[in-house]
Order: sequence, then structure tokens, then C-alpha cells
Amino acid sequence: MRDAVINLIYLAASVLFIFGIKGLTHPRTAVRGNLLSAVGMLTAVVVTLLAKDIVGLPVVIAGLVVGAAVGAVMAVKIQMTAMPQLVAVFNGFGGGASVCVAWAALIGALDPKMQMTVATAASGLIGAVTFWGSMIAFAKLQEIKLFKRPMYFSGQYAVNALLFLVALGVGAWVVAQPERGTSVYFLLVAVASVLGVTVTIPIGGADMPVAIALLNSLSGLAAAATGFVLSNNMLIIAGSLVGASGIILTLIMCKAMNRTLFNVLSGKLGPTGTTATADEVYAGKVKSTSAEEVALLMDGVRRVMIVPGYGMAVSQAQYAVRDLYNALEARDVAVDFAIHPVAGRMPGHMNVLLAEVDIPYDKLQEMDLANPMFEQTDVVIVLGANDVVNPDARQNPDSPIAGMPILDVDKAKTVVIIKRSLSPGFAGIPNPLFAADNTLMLFGDGKQMIQELLAAVKDL
Ligand code: NDP
Repeated sequence: MRDAVINLIYLAASVLFIFGIKGLTHPRTAVRGNLLSAVGMLTAVVVTLLAKDIVGLPVVIAGLVVGAAVGAVMAVKIQMTAMPQLVAVFNGFGGGASVCVAWAALIGALDPKMQMTVATAASGLIGAVTFWGSMIAFAKLQEIKLFKRPMYFSGQYAVNALLFLVALGVGAWVVAQPERGTSVYFLLVAVASVLGVTVTIPIGGADMPVAIALLNSLSGLAAAATGFVLSNNMLIIAGSLVGASGIILTLIMCKAMNRTLFNVLSGKLGPTGTTATADEVYAGKVKSTSAEEVALLMDGVRRVMIVPGYGMAVSQAQYAVRDLYNALEARDVAVDFAIHPVAGRMPGHMNVLLAEVDIPYDKLQEMDLANPMFEQTDVVIVLGANDVVNPDARQNPDSPIAGMPILDVDKAKTVVIIKRSLSPGFAGIPNPLFAADNTLMLFGDGKQMIQELLAAVKDL
């Protein structure tokens, strides 16, 4: 009876998770979705603490309090631009926790059953890969010097394949001889840790969001495996939900970047020998402009499209953008926002920033809707976006980003690019759009340039 009640409460918490995830699919329902999931998680934690005969309950509660406090401080303090790093760290801690819990369960088990030992080996393997993979992802996103560029060594695929096979072999050893306990389990974790590092170091530049989504999925699988170790249905369900949604997001993002998962993991992105140099692309062809000139250009036009990118996030230009949007709409200019699925540094990055300043949701056009609109657009303002508007993806089969779906801003009558210099975006390659006949460069900080543009529009 007691178990049935506990499982019913777990089921209710799982339903809250599912409705929570559903809510996150639209900005209008996202806050409610987040809240539902949080209530589900709180319920699950409280029931687990009350229902299980937990050894050292005060220590567990102290851990919960300290963990919640650290998490809350990090969540409040973190810059929006550093959110992907934070997600990477959270994924990693999830994997690390699975490794530790499975280890503790293995030590405590007197006569472990097959299900438990298989799950323990899976937790150790997946958890350690997730932890170290996430730490490397963090270092890359944080642009720590040593990890910034993709790292290759000869025979990398063979070494990774070998490490994976060795990890499987050691995992089988854990299952066959669980009485050997800690020593074999540590060997498994050590091999999987090396694998986590060697698999992640070659992943570079623009493929990082996919890697983060995949690591998120792996952290879920590790948690689900740990659920089997502890025979805890809640952990199995929650872990499976994270694992499944993470892999779905991974595949959606692969599609948005036109890369296969194998291609991402093998780190095949970045400037190649055949990529044109910045000098070849830009020399003598770039035209710079001023805020006043751009304002004049927008006098009397019918349609303006704003394309935000990472630079809008860095310069925190969203408030100024909202004011410019209001000023243009007041002059009967139709203003829309074209959102690329991987603009910024995480999926939905631009949507969140624009929602924060109350831009109406129906003004945010996803790529498929936005692309046919560019031909009828008088002026496109590209604000701190680079890779996601690089026409090389469409036109140059030798480009490292060939085939990546992009926003076709080059098809508009005039394109104004706001950025500080001609330096490349995340993918590290030049962008021929900056040298196109219909492009004007407005060099400067995103927020400052939009503020100057706003002042000039008001003076018209
Ligand atoms: P990019 O990284 O391609 O370009 C951003 C541009 O912003 C830079 O060229 C930079 O130019 C400019 N910039 C930086 N700071 C400022 C500032 N203060 N004011 C004005 N401009 C500024 O960004 P996109 O959004 O176009 O593309 C996203 C890229 O990131 C893609 O390659 C994507 O694959 C990758 N990525 C995406 C993730 C996601 O999930 N969305 C996660 C991780 C990576 P300058 O220095 O000259 O100012």
C-alpha cells in the first residue's frame, strides 16, 4: 500500500514534468511550464526523503540546502550570454552525481542482482563520459585558451573506438564480478573519463550547441541508469524524459546546422585549406555607413526586418531594439524579427531576450517563415549576427558551413550590418555578405549603434 501511494505520487510528478516540457515549447507558456516542472521536482524530492529510510538524513538535507543555495545564486548571477556554460556544468554535475550514487550503491550491496550491476556499470560509464565531456564543453564555451580550438591527434577515431570497447569490457567485468567492487568500478570510471575528454576535444566552433544537447541527453540516460541501480521509478522516468528530449533536441539542431551527429562528433567544422581568407573576401569591397545615413534609408520604407545574433546578447541591446521597434512602428513601418534556430549561444537565446522586452510573439518569425519575406524587405538590420546570415552556406560547397540553413538576408534591398569589426563569428570564417553590393556596415557596439539609430530616426 505504502509503495503504491509513493508510486502514484511519482506518477503525478512525472505528469507535471511532461506538461512542464510541453509548456516550454512556446514563450507564452514557458514560465508556467518551468513552474510545473519545478513543483514536480519538489514533490518528488520531498516524497523520496519522507518515504525512504535514508541513512544520515540530516546530511542529505544539509546537502540539499547547500546545493539549492549555490544553484539559486548561480542562476541569479549568471549573465544571459554565459547560460550555455551553466547548462554544460549542470549536465556535468548530473553525470558526476550518477557516478557517485552508483558507486555508493555498489559498495552497500550485499548480493547485487544482475539488473543492479548492469545499471551500475551503465551509470559509471555514461556518467563519467558526461561529466568530463561537459567540463571540456564548459572550457570551450568559456573560451579558455587551451580548449578554444578543436584539438586533433592522429588515430583519434581509432583511439575513441578502442576506449569505448575497453570501457564496455570493464563494464562487463563489473557485472561479472561485482564482489570486486570499487577497484574495477574505478577502472571503468577512469577509462570512461578519458573517453569523455577525447570525444569532446575535437568538437569545435559552431557545433558546440549540438554537443551540449547531446551531453544533456547523456546526463538523463545516466540518471535513468542510476534509477535502475536504486530501483527508483521517479529517477527512471525523469532520466528517460531528459534523455529522450535531449536526443530529440540534438537531432533538431543537427538538422538546423545541416550536420550529421557523426560529423559533429568528429569535429569536421572550421576553416579548411580551401576557405578564402578575410583579405580575399573583404579587400576594397566593404562600405561603412553611419547611424544618420541608415535612418535616412529607413525614411518612408514599408518593411524592416531585424536579425538579432550573439552580438545583441553581448551588448545587451534588446531594450534599445524595443525602443527602435516602437519608433519605427509609430512611423507605419512594419517591423519583424527573423530568428535563426541557433542564433546566439543556445537554442531560443534570441526569443528569450526579445520576450524579456515585450516584443510581441507574432513579430518573431522563424527561419522558414522569415526567408520568403526578405525579398519584400526594404532594409534588414543584422544586429551582431554573423554565421547565421553567411551566404557561403548556400553558395559555396567548399565552405565549412556549406549546407547549413541560413537566413537569406542578402535577398533584401539593403542590408545594414551592426558589429564592431570584420572579425568572424563562432565558426571562425569570413562572411562575403559584408562585401556584398547591397550591404552597408555600421561599425560599433550593438547597443550604442541602435541608440544612435533611434535618435537619428526620431530626428527625421
Ligand atoms: P556569431 O558568433 O556568428 O557572430 C556574432 C557576431 O557578433 C560577431 O561576429 C561579433 O563581431 C559580433 N559582436 C560581438 N559583440 C558585439 C557587440 N558588443 N556589439 C555588436 N556586435 C558584436 O553569432 P550568430 O548569432 O550569427 O551565430 C551563432 C553561432 O554560434 C553559430 O555559428 C552557431 O552555430 C554557434 N552557436 C550557437 C549556439 C546556439 O545554440 N544558439 C550555441 C553555441 C554556438 P565583432 O566582434 O566584429 O563585433
